[in-house]
This record gives sequence, C-alpha cells and structure tokens, in this order.
Amino acid sequence: MASELEPEVQALDRSLLECSAEETARKWLQATDLTREVYQHLAHCVPKIYCRGPNPSPQKEDMLAQHVLLAPMEWYLCGEDPAFGFPKFEQANKPPRLCGRVFKVGEPTYSCRDCAVDPTCVLCMECFLGSLHKDHRYRMTTSGGGGFCDCGDAEAWKVGPCCQKHELSVSQVEEEEDPLEHLSEDVRARTYSLFAIMFRYAVETLTWDKESQLPADLEVAEKSDTYYCMLFNDEVHTYEQVIYTLQKAVNCTQKEAIAFATTVDRDGRRSVRYGDFQYCEQAKSVIVRNTSRQTKPLQVHVMHSSIVAHQNFGLKLLSWLGSIIGYSDGLRRILCQVGLQEGLYGENSSLVDRLMLSDSKLWKGARSVYHQLFMSSLLMDLKYKKLFAVRFAKNYERLQSDYVTDDHDREFSIADLSVQIFTVPSLARMLITEENLLTIIIRTFMDHLRHRDAQGRFQFERYTALQAFKFRRVQSLILDLKYVLISKPTVWSDELRQKFLEGFDAFLELLKCMQGMDPITRQVGQHIEMEPEWEAAFTLQMKLTHVISMMQDWCALDEKVLIEAYKKCLSVLTQCHGGFTDGEQPLTLSICGHSVETIRYCVSQEKVSIHLPVSRLLAGLHVLLSKSEVAYKFPELLPLSELSPPMLIEHPLRCLVLCAQVHAGMWRRNGFSLVNQIYYYHNVKCRREMFDKDIVMLQTGVSMMDPNHFLMILLSRFELYQIFSTPDYGKRFSSEITHKDVVQQNNTLIEEMLYLIIMLVGERFSPGVGQVNATDEIKREIIHQLSIKPMAHSELVKSLPEDENKETGMESVIEAVAHFKKPGLTGRGMYELKPECTKEFNLYFYHFSRAEQSKAEEAQRKLKRQNREDTALPPPVLPPFCPLFASLVNILQSDVMLCVMRTILQWAVEHNGHAWSESMLQRVLHLIGMALQEERQQLESVVEEHVVTFTFTQKMSKPGEPDNSPSILAMLESLQNAPYLQVHKDMIRWILKTFNTIKKIRESSSTSPLAEAEGTIMEESSRDKDKAERKRKAEIARLRREKIMAQMSEMQRHFIDENKELFQQTLELDASASPALDSSPMAADVTLTALGPAQAQVPEQRQFVTCILCQEEQEVTMESRAMVLAAFVQRSTVLSKNRSEASQDPEKYDPLFMHPDLSCGTHTGSCGHIMHAHCWQRYFDSVQAKEQRRQQRLRLHTSYDVENGEFLCPLCECLSNTVIPLLLPPRNIFNRLNFSDQPNLTQWIRTVSQQIKALLVLRKEESTPNIASSKNLENMDELQLPEGFRPDFHPKNPYSESIKEMLTTFGTAVYKVGLKVHPNEEDPRVPVMCWGSCAYTIQSIERILSDEEKPLFGPLPCRLDDCLRSLARFAAAHWTVTPLAVVQGHFGKLFSSLVPNDSYGNLPCILDIDMFHLLVGLVLAFPALHCQDFSGSSLSTGDLHIFHLVTMAHIVQILLTSRTVFPCLPEEDGMDQEHPSGGEEAAVLDLYRTLRQCTGSVLRAAPSGWHLWRSVRAGIMPFLKCSALFFHYLNGIPSPSDIQVSGTSHFEHLCNYLSLPTNLICLFQENSEIMNSLIESWCQNNEVKRYLEGERDAISYPRESNKLIDLPEDYSSLINQASSFSCPKSGGDKSRAPTLCLVCGTLLCSQSYCCQTELEGEDVGACTAHTYSCGSGAGIFLRVRECQVLFLAGKTKGCFYSPPYLDDYGETDQGLRRGNPLHLCQERLQKIQKLWQQHSITEEIGHAQEANQSLAGIDWQHL
Ligand SMILES: [Zn+2]
Ligand SMILES: [Zn+2]
Ligand SMILES: [Zn+2]
Ligand SMILES: [Zn+2]
Ligand SMILES: [Zn+2]
Ligand SMILES: [Zn+2]
Ligand SMILES: [Zn+2]
Repeated sequence: MASELEPEVQALDRSLLECSAEETARKWLQATDLTREVYQHLAHCVPKIYCRGPNPSPQKEDMLAQHVLLAPMEWYLCGEDPAFGFPKFEQANKPPRLCGRVFKVGEPTYSCRDCAVDPTCVLCMECFLGSLHKDHRYRMTTSGGGGFCDCGDAEAWKVGPCCQKHELSVSQVEEEEDPLEHLSEDVRARTYSLFAIMFRYAVETLTWDKESQLPADLEVAEKSDTYYCMLFNDEVHTYEQVIYTLQKAVNCTQKEAIAFATTVDRDGRRSVRYGDFQYCEQAKSVIVRNTSRQTKPLQVHVMHSSIVAHQNFGLKLLSWLGSIIGYSDGLRRILCQVGLQEGLYGENSSLVDRLMLSDSKLWKGARSVYHQLFMSSLLMDLKYKKLFAVRFAKNYERLQSDYVTDDHDREFSIADLSVQIFTVPSLARMLITEENLLTIIIRTFMDHLRHRDAQGRFQFERYTALQAFKFRRVQSLILDLKYVLISKPTVWSDELRQKFLEGFDAFLELLKCMQGMDPITRQVGQHIEMEPEWEAAFTLQMKLTHVISMMQDWCALDEKVLIEAYKKCLSVLTQCHGGFTDGEQPLTLSICGHSVETIRYCVSQEKVSIHLPVSRLLAGLHVLLSKSEVAYKFPELLPLSELSPPMLIEHPLRCLVLCAQVHAGMWRRNGFSLVNQIYYYHNVKCRREMFDKDIVMLQTGVSMMDPNHFLMILLSRFELYQIFSTPDYGKRFSSEITHKDVVQQNNTLIEEMLYLIIMLVGERFSPGVGQVNATDEIKREIIHQLSIKPMAHSELVKSLPEDENKETGMESVIEAVAHFKKPGLTGRGMYELKPECTKEFNLYFYHFSRAEQSKAEEAQRKLKRQNREDTALPPPVLPPFCPLFASLVNILQSDVMLCVMRTILQWAVEHNGHAWSESMLQRVLHLIGMALQEERQQLESVVEEHVVTFTFTQKMSKPGEPDNSPSILAMLESLQNAPYLQVHKDMIRWILKTFNTIKKIRESSSTSPLAEAEGTIMEESSRDKDKAERKRKAEIARLRREKIMAQMSEMQRHFIDENKELFQQTLELDASASPALDSSPMAADVTLTALGPAQAQVPEQRQFVTCILCQEEQEVTMESRAMVLAAFVQRSTVLSKNRSEASQDPEKYDPLFMHPDLSCGTHTGSCGHIMHAHCWQRYFDSVQAKEQRRQQRLRLHTSYDVENGEFLCPLCECLSNTVIPLLLPPRNIFNRLNFSDQPNLTQWIRTVSQQIKALLVLRKEESTPNIASSKNLENMDELQLPEGFRPDFHPKNPYSESIKEMLTTFGTAVYKVGLKVHPNEEDPRVPVMCWGSCAYTIQSIERILSDEEKPLFGPLPCRLDDCLRSLARFAAAHWTVTPLAVVQGHFGKLFSSLVPNDSYGNLPCILDIDMFHLLVGLVLAFPALHCQDFSGSSLSTGDLHIFHLVTMAHIVQILLTSRTVFPCLPEEDGMDQEHPSGGEEAAVLDLYRTLRQCTGSVLRAAPSGWHLWRSVRAGIMPFLKCSALFFHYLNGIPSPSDIQVSGTSHFEHLCNYLSLPTNLICLFQENSEIMNSLIESWCQNNEVKRYLEGERDAISYPRESNKLIDLPEDYSSLINQASSFSCPKSGGDKSRAPTLCLVCGTLLCSQSYCCQTELEGEDVGACTAHTYSCGSGAGIFLRVRECQVLFLAGKTKGCFYSPPYLDDYGETDQGLRRGNPLHLCQERLQKIQKLWQQHSITEEIGHAQEANQSLAGIDWQHL
C-alpha cells in the first residue's frame, strides 16, 4: 500500500487526552440546550478520534471513544461515577425474565419436539441444559446467526417455558409492574434526554447519504480534506473478481486484496484507499470500469473521512446503548420509548421506523448492529414488543419490497425479524385482527408476481433473470404466512373470524391465480423444441403446501369459519369453471342400460394443467365437513345443493388421466419437464395437497353420483369408452388393429383406470373420509413403507409427509408396527415390520411408486413362501367410510363395473392375442376381492333385521345381461386351472373360498346357526386338505435340503481329515528341527533362538509364489528373476511424541540417528500381492501412458498420482507407490561358517573398533590422492590392520540383475518419499532410509499389537506378515547394492555413538537416540564390515554382540530417564509371584549406583531395587518385542509357541528367543570389563548432565502409544466449543467451517480465504497446511458444523468418512440435517483410530475415490 500520494496518519490531538469525562458531564448537566452542547462535543471530537488514516486502528479508536465520548455520557446518565452508578442500577433491577441471548453463527440451539410451540422456538445451550426439555425428544441445530434464546417466553413453550436460571423471576414478575419505578425521577429525565439525543445522532449519521457534506449541526469550521474510497459488499461478484479488481485498482498485494475482500464480505464495506478526493475518485473509476463489464459494477463511494468517522461512532454508540440497557429494565424501556416516539414528520418518523425503512440502504455491519439492538431492546420489553410489532406490520409492505429488490441474504435484512414477531401467538393474533396481517402478507406477495397470462394466472414462462431473482426472494413471504398461521387459535372472536376470512379471501385470490397455470398440450409428431418452465410453479406449490394445510386446520377449528370458507371456496371454484359447459353439444354415453351426458373433452388433445389448488382446497374442506360433522349438523347452512358433482370431478380427473397417459407413453414427446411434474405431483413433498386431494375430490364427487354415471364418464376420460361400450369391441380391437403400440397403450390405460377405481374405493384412511384417526393414517403409511424392506429411521422419515412443525408423527406409532434392530459397526439401525402387520398390506397402496409396488409385491410374496403360506395378496379388511362417503362402495357392484370385470375376465378366458394383460387381470381380481371383503364385513357387522344391500356375491354368480355370457364366478372357476395364470392361482382360489364363506353366512343367517357351523366345518376341512397338501410338499423339500446338507458336511469332514494330516506333517517337520537344537550346548530345554551363534537351524524352505499378472508360478531364489510386492511408502507421524518439530531442510537433513521422539518416520505398507518385477514394470508403464493420454484429454483427477510413481495394485486396487523385492533370509547367504571359538563382547568391540579405525585411515588416504604414495604406505604401516581384516576385499553380489535392480528401485522410493527429495540412488542416505523404514514399520506394528493386547506372534494378517518379512530382508540385502565404503561409514558412525571414537565428533548422546533404530542400523550395516573380516568371527556373533550392546545402552537410557513416581504402582502381571528372589533387584540397584557415580551423583538417589527393576522391565518391553519381530523376519526363525498366544507379558520367552539372560543386568556383570568404561563415557556426556540438572527434557520409557483425542459424549458440546472458536487470522471473526484435528486437537478455520497459506508454492487451506505440520501430509479431521470426518493426504487426496457420532436410531447425521441428538460411539472412534494407527488413511482415501469419482473433483487442498 505504500505510495507517495498516501498521506501520513494524522497526528493525535493531545487535547483529547486531557478531556475529563466528569467535567464534560457537568457542563452538560448545566446546559440549557443539551442537544446543541452534545452535538458540538461530537462534531468536535469524533473526527479527531475516528478515521485518521488509511487503515482503521480499532483498539486505539475504541479506547479514545470510551474516554472522550462515552464516559461523559455514562457520568451524565448516572449522575456520579459510572463505576458506582451502574452496579446500583443493576441491583435495583429484577433478574431478567427472558434469556434473550443472541446467537452467534454456529452456536448450537435446541428445540423441544414435544413442547415447543413451533420449531422456531429455541433455547441456548445453557438454558437447554437447565430445562426439563433435555429429557424430552429434542432437536439440535446450529444457528446461522441472529435470533435469540426463547427461554422464559411463556408463549413459546407448551410446558416448561423457563430453565432453572430464568425460573425464579417468573414467579416474581407475576404482577405486571412498571420497570421505570426502579429509577429515580431525575435519572429517568436524564436518561430520556440523553438517549433521545444519542439515538437520533446514530440514526442520522448512519442513514446520511451525502458523500462530502455533514448534517448541519455536525459541520465544523476546520474540516480536513481527506476522503475514503469505500467499497461495498454485493452478492453478485465473487471473491476472486473482487481480489483481482482491487489489485489492479489500488495497486495492492494479493494478500492485502484478500484482506480487503474478507472485510467487505464480513462487514459489508471497507475503505480501500485514503487520500484527497481526486486520489480516491481515481480508484473508484478503475474499480467501476473493471467490474461493470459482465454485471452491474461493484458499489464504491468516495466519502469524506468525517462522515465515515461519525458513522463509525454511530455504530459504536448503538452497541453502547445495547450494553447500557442491559443494566436495567427501566433503561431499556426508556430506550424503547425514545425509539418508537413519533418524530416531527408524523407517521413513520420515529427513529425505529427510520432505521427500518433505510435498512436496505445500509451496509451489512450497520444492519447487524442495529438489528441486535432491536432484539435486545424492543423484543425484550413485553409492552414495547407489541408496539414494535404494530410498527413492523404497518411497514410490512415497504420492508418486504425493499428486501425483494435488495440483494443481501435474508438474515441481513430487517424483514427477517418477522420470525421473531409473527411466531409469538398473541402478537400474531393481534396483528391479524388489528392490522389485517394475513391479507397484507398475501397481497404483498401477489403484488410481486405481476406477470400473468390472459386468464389472470401466474406465468413463469419467459421470466427475465431479474424476475426470477425477485421470485426467489419473494418466497420468504410465504414463510411469514406460515409463521402467522403456525399457532392455531383456541378462542375465536368475531373480529378474528372476520379478519381470518378476509385473509382467506385473499388466499383464494392467490390460489385462483394458480388454478390451471402452466397448462400443457400433448405433443404429437415432433418432440417439443424447448423444455417448458415448470419448476417455478412447483416451487410455489411446494412452499404453499403447509400454508394450504394450515388454512384448513384453522377452518376446522370453528364451525362458522368452516362453513363460510367452504362457501367462498366453492364460489371461487365456480368462477374458475366459468364457461365450462358453454357452447358445445354434450355427449351422451350409455352402457348396460345406463346413460349420462358429459362434455366433449379429450385429455390427449386439449389443454390440461396439474395445478388445481382451488379444487384441492375445496376437497380438503369437504373432508372437514365430514370429519367435524358440520355436514350433518347444519346441512341447511351449506350450499350442498349447488354442488355439481361432474364439475367437481372434472379437473382432478383430467389430471389423473394425464398421469395415466404419461405412464402409457402417450406424452413421450413432451419431454422431461412433464415427467418431472408428474413425479412431484406424487412425491411426498407435494402429494398431500395435490395427488391425495385429487383422489378425495373424486371420492367426494362420486359419493354424490350414480356410480354407473361416474364410471361411464371415467371410461370416456380415459378414452376407453369405445372398448367397453361396444360388445366384442375388445376382440375386434385386438385382431383388427395391428398397431402394437396402441394396444399396449390401451392396456396400460385400462390398468391405470382399474387402479384408480381401487384407490377410490380403498383409500379411506384420511380422517373424515373413513372412520379412522390420524394415527391409523400414519401407521398405514409406515406399514407400507416397511413392506418394501426394513428401513432406517431417517429413510422412513423421508418417505413420510412432514407437517409444518417438521413432525411426521412417526415416533408415536412406530413401536406398534415395527421392531428396531441395532446397527453394527458400519451399518445403521433398522426398523422391521412386525409379522402381524403384514395382513394390512395393500398391494395397491396409493402412495407406492411403480418400482416400490413391484418391490413390495416381491417381498411380500417371498415372505409368504417362507412362512409356507399361499402367495395370494388379497385386499386387506378396510375401515368403514364416513356417512358422507359411504355410497362409494357401490361402485364395486354397479352394473358398469361388473360389465368391465366381466369383459376383462372374458378376454383372459379366451386368452387370444395381446389385448389383455396379466396386471389388468390382477387388478380385476383385486377389485373382486375388495367387493367380497366389503360384503363379508357388512354381513358380519349387520344389526339384526337390517338387510345388507351390498350383494356382490349374488351379482357375480349371475350370467351377463344382454348376451347371457358366463357369470364372473364361472369364468373364475375356469381360470383357476389355466396354466398361463400360475401366479394368480392362489388369488383366484382365495376369491372362490371367500365367495363360499359369504354364501354360507348368508344361508346361515336365513336358516339355523347349526348349518353355519357345519358350513364352516366343511370349509375348514377343505382348507385343511389344502394345508395338508402344502405341508406334504414342504416336508419333501425339507428332506431334500437335509440330504444335500448331509452330503456337504461329509465332504467337509473329509477335507478336514486331509488337512489334519497335512498339519501333522508340518508339526513333525518342526519337531525334527528341535532335536538338532537339543544337541546344541547352550539350550538345555527346547528353545528357539532368533539370533547369535545359537540361532536355531531352520531347514531351508523353498518358497513358490504366483504372479498376479501373468499367473505364472516361480520359486524365490537369489538367481532368479525378481518377484515383487506392491508397496506403499509414506511419511508418518503416528508414533510422534513431538509434533511441534519444524521440518528440516530435506536436502541437508541427516537421518542416520533417529531421535527417540520419533517425530517423523517412514512407513512401508503392502497389500501383499506378488508380481514379477518385469510384469509390474510393464503394467506400470501402461498405466503411465494411459494417464498421460487421459490428462491431456480431460484433466481428470485420479485417486493416484502417476507422476509420483503411484499406481493401484492390479488385483485389489490398493494405492501403492513402489514395490519390494521378495528375498530369502539374506543372512544365511553370508553366514558362511559357524566357528566354535567366537570372541566375547569385549574382544569383539575392540576388534570392530580397530577395523573402523583402519577403514577411516584408508578413506582419508583415498580422499587425498595428491599426496605422495610413499606417504600412503607410511600410514599403512602406522595403522595396524586387525588380524584377518582385508579392506581390499570386495565380495561378489550374489543376487540376479533383476533383484539388484529392484533393491535399488525400492531403496530409492523410500529415500524419495521419506525425505521428500528427488530420487538419487547414489545419495549415501538411501541405505539409512531403508533401515529406518524397516525399524519404523516394525515399531508401529508392535504398538498396534500391544494396544490391542494381541500376542506378538499371533496370527498376523497375511499382507502384514509378507510386508514385514520382505521389508526386513530387503533392508538387510540393500547394502549389496551400495558402495561398501558408504555402508561402512554409516556403521562406523552408528557404532561410535555407543563406543566412542575420537574420529567422530558431534554424535548425539544416548538420550537422543532411538535404540531400536540404532540396532537395526548396526545389524544391517554390519555385513559390509564383516565381509572383509576373515578372522573367523561369524556374522551371527556380531549380531548378538550388537544386540547386547544396544540392549545395555537402552537399559542405561531407561534408568537415566525413569521418572516414574516410584511408590504405589499398580500391581501388574503378577510379577511378584514370578520373581520371589531379589537377584534382579540387587543387580539393578548395583547398576544404578554405578550410574550415580558416573553422573557425579546428580542422578536421583536410588529408590528400591524392586521399583528400578520394574521400570527397566516395563521400559524395555517394546524394544524387546520389536527386536524379536526384527530377528524373526530377518532370519526366518519360527517364533516360540508361547509368544503366539496372548496372556502374560512373555518377558522370559522373549529373553530366551533373543538370547538374553532373563536377568538383563547380568549382561553388564558378564561384560563389566568394557561396560564400566562405556557407561562412564555415556554418562559423562554433557547433554546427559544438562538433562539431569533439569536444563533439558528427554523421552522416558516406555513411550505411551498415541491415541486420537478424546471426544465429548454429547455432540452439541463440540458444536458449542467450535462456535466460540474464531478465525486465528482475521481478528475475532467467527470461523465458518471450524474443523478439529483428531490427532492433536487443534481447531482450524477450514475452507476459507482468511486462513489459506502458501505451501510449496501453492495456496492451501488450513487443514491441508495443518496436515503437513501435524501428520506429515496425512490428517484426520472432524468438520464440526457438518458432523463429518475428513481424511486428507497430500494436497490432492481426500475423502469424507462417517463420523463416530450416532443418534438414538443408530444413524449418523452428516451435515446435521436431521438434528437428532448425537452421541459418541466409541467403537466407531476406535475404528478410525485403528485406520490411523495402521497407516491406512491414504489407502482408505484411495478406495473411496475409486468408488466415488466425484470425490476426485473436490478441491481438497483448499479445505
Ligand atoms: Zn438462553
Ligand atoms: Zn433460561
Ligand atoms: Zn419439552
Ligand atoms: Zn508375471
Ligand atoms: Zn493388492
Ligand atoms: Zn480463518
Ligand atoms: Zn493436528
């Protein structure tokens, strides 16, 4: 920002500091014109405090403002020192009655599903925890900011309105009292005048719209000449555009531009330039020019600095007022009075009005400040809340219009306060009656939708972008309407009735504009050119759904209102139908002697619309007439006689026919928009006020008609009249018309029509239609959902319609119909239908989609087969209709219906050609079944003397009328045995049986009851026969199954027997190895020893493996072609004890010594799949080539990065980045001879030291070749080569070329990944990295096994076993491909860290060496030295001595650092019983004494030997276990069986296996000769001294395993924690995506510009950046707002993982959409932890990305 034009920050006016608040206040007290006095003070001081330079300095400004401006006001207010005054106010004040806590963004809020009046009533966390609702069914959400806690508001809660904290005050404030009474007369007066002035000042400055001129009373003479170029926020331009533009316009860096943009986005404005007018104007014009091209330009103003200053102080003042009124209800009330007092200009001139009305002109920051003040003042004062509500309602239209044209989100608009006002029932009611609010809202809404068609209906087609934008925003008004209606009145006054009905009128006007909108015409010939707009209309419908339902609910509450509403609705519907029958000649239809007239109309040829809200509202009201019995009580008041049933059903019927025709494929050319409309018409979100109501409307109409007439009209609308009215038409039609499509079409239409009839008669589960209650309805929905399959809670919820409170009512009935099955580790909890509920299953349930129907049918048939029942799915027994609808059942026995049934059955009997379908028949059978059920039910419930008029059985046994065709019964009987109807056989049988039953009932009611009994018996016996047959078949099936099972188990037994032999053979093999060991002098008992001269001799086992690529088998040998394992190498911090370690410069870092904090290691993993090296290479080359082609074409991300050597295992798709060669135990190759006479440790150390020295001298010679060769020789004499040491000898590499190549390949990969450097196979660090990876991988596996309390050599997964074996052997063989000198050099250095050698300076002290890494390094480097040693000492002797030496160093390390609080350790392992003797204790005590001596007694005095031994034993265990694993894999020695089982700690067994004495201290005693001097050298190291003197820290042993952080049990406490977390970079701003690192517990501000940092030259988000410091590239996070686990690896890889939090239904809630309380699931957390410990995060991401390609497209690096 440095520019010469930039003026300096103006110097501070000293006089300000000398200001005295008390004095100023006194001056004001004496003033005659207080306003003038205060204004002068402000005019003078404000510009001196605020806006003194280009960048704001808020702290300084606030400090000065408090001192100079606010303090005098506080003095004035209190009349004394505010430090005393305010507490006095507070004391006099009653404790607050309302909580009113204003929510921060992301803060958790709670709503009680049982007690909240509506879902907008919420509690803050504190109140919730102190309320009785915490034990209820509650819902948890995170606040989007704004809104406040409703605790204490009696209107918000049905019960328990207060938490414990706010409870007390309620009883106290029973009597309404004036809060002003607590203030003295003069305080009141002073407050009043001061508040009036200050509030006015704030409003005036904030709403001031001139750019360089101040209000007259704030102008000062000596005005400065500085301006700001102020950039304002809009919702049009993106961050990137703003940042780019700013860099150009004001010449700032990208970072500064980001800061500007962030502030603009947050506060709504930010000055981007400061200086004279010209200078600012210039920036403005650049910005405007640069952003005006595509859209409207960014809003920029050049403003005089003093205006900005006054505005800033104005904001400060409003916050100040907000905090001052917190002291006392009295002060708050005065502020409310001041705010609402009418100003000079009459209506709308109060300060509150002025602010509200200029809302859309204010910037974001200013809006939120004053909105908050309103919430804490006007909405907290019960009296003024009402007055404010009136003001809000009066301004409603203006405010909403402002909002609609503004572009800010609703949460930043004053219009959003409607939720706070309208949801208060008493306020809503008052506003309806006094301000006619319902009408106002609806009219305002309609005003914004002026685009209409010729009939006055809404038209959304050809909306401009602006209209579409307005339409989106105006939808929030529907929400307001919902708020107003949400609480229903219990008492109706006449005014309320009147105003509600007025609102209802307006609402009908709105619906009328929707009735028939978006009409469509069937497209024939060509496909439509453009998909017509349909979404807008459906959006409107969807948003209005709840409002429509609520309108009906209101009507249902009052009989008078219901009657009036019904009349109004009917008259509007009649208007809509105006001209409906005009002109055209009606059509006459007749079948079976019935005839009816109808209009000529064809759905397939004329316009039809899906939108019929007026008809549907009438249908809803009609049901209410029935439900509330108004229809029977006041028939004279109802216009029932005016109803014209054909008119009522006409439009809904057209709509249903449309659906049928679409289904029949007749509307294919109308495109997807129609398909979508049909989908939503039936969808759970809309159907309640669309499809369902159309069915009801038909039921209504039909119940008032002759069913024959109705059916004829139905046939005509379905365009099927011809087929059924003409005898034999069907036959002709199938034979004459060859067009298959038409036949198919008609078949579908017939099916659909029959389905519709089934629905009309069968759907009686809406209260009012049938005699049921709401519970029955919901039960039925659930039963049918669960008939498809078991479902999780959330799935069920989704399939059920929600009411306006987002409740489905499911919880109250679910127990009755379903069992709950708990979730496993990965699944979800499931509900399963109770078996007894299956009898209520209706195959033709009207809410099934086609797919659901067929799934349900299949599932139910399967269930029946399993239960060995017949597979008929007969219609269930239905509840009776309400009287108003009772006549509907007569459809079933009407003549036309019987004719249709007969016709279809006839087709089926004749079975010729394709003119009928099975599903047609199935539906007819279902209808017959329904009729029979109906008749039986009527017979069974008939009261004596009454005649049952439903006589279907009689009619079905009569032959057809005109032509004497066979009766229905006869046809069924003949169909019973039709071979082509196998599937329907059971159903036909069921029908015939039911028919007989009914016949018996009828006969018995006319004759004696005995006959009936007899009849049943006969019936029974035939049923029994049936059953017996079924049983017999089942029995046969069972026997057959059993036989097969028996055969299979026989085979299995055989197999096991064979295997047994095999196993025994191997056992014998082991046993044959043991005797050899017995003969060895060392092992008295059978012991397996993994290393040293006593190493167990294992017979060479040949290993054959198969390549997964070419399927060829091959033996693993030294000479053969290399076989390799796919492997993945990664950096790891899983074991790290020090995450703060800054990463070193990879080029210089020396990894030779691993620090015991294990801060970063290199882990190698493998999926265990084996390939030929050359097969793999060919495979990898092809992957590479493919990837290059692909990237050029579409630059797709893949789950693997080929350029980094990554590929997927060709077999299991596991992410890999290199391969490990398979090898035989490499030691055996070099361990040529076994000499009997081996050096002891002391001798060996001496020899090795000499060898190292000799080599050092030789190296020096070589590196200085310019020195004369004579001198060379001289030196050679000087150095005494140890006996048998031949440094000039270079062994031949025993491996094949291919193996050598793979050794280099893997070594280089480990080096490259581990150090994050470019591959360089010559780098001397390559072997070190290989050894390190071997050591680190073993350590991490040892940790996992210990943590899971698994035995060390228990059954490891194959892939792990193979990986460790190959890794250990590879690392041991790697020296053969490295120059000898390099490895020898490493060995020398490693060796010198324990055995000092003057030539190596600066080696780490033993406290800073991880001993296992050291051991692995020494053992694996040693062959390089040993191969030149011909003295006769064996390689394994060296191994043993190295191991002993390192072990001793580790013991010393443990003792030096043992910080255990010695006394009172918990008893473990029963160690005391194991070691009654104190041999170890005495020895370790002795050793400890030596250590003390060597350290000059700085070491703490010796605690008891017992404690010391304990800590040595505990501390060394991990090391011993790692060593055992290491030597096991290295040398291929089988593990002793004892260690293969879990249980005791296996200390002795380990010692035996590792050739150690169980009393480890003996090692020191046996080798005291050399050890004493070594101990001395270790202890006298300076670092050790510093440590002991407390100057530095060191790792102590055993190291504890790293775990993921502890998470709270209740998820909301995490949300709460995160909501108070603010972005660490943008000063106190709330973070939008707070994200928790599960490894270290750091909270991060993710997915946000503010916290992006640069990493390796790229911008990355906070999470990615954190993975590099915390997890060396991989990370596990919890996105708190989303309740989602995030795995990240590198910059491009990531995936989401299911969180360890479950609700009571055993489901996770990713995205926190459902809001059920969530609780920690330990098992799932453990699972994530295990993935992490096993280094499987990257692999998991790979699999997730392979499975879901869209994951690869996410910009992970910016999270
Ligand atoms: Zn609260
Ligand atoms: Zn409370
Ligand atoms: Zn509750
Ligand atoms: Zn192969
Ligand atoms: Zn694999
Ligand atoms: Zn941030
Ligand atoms: Zn972390």
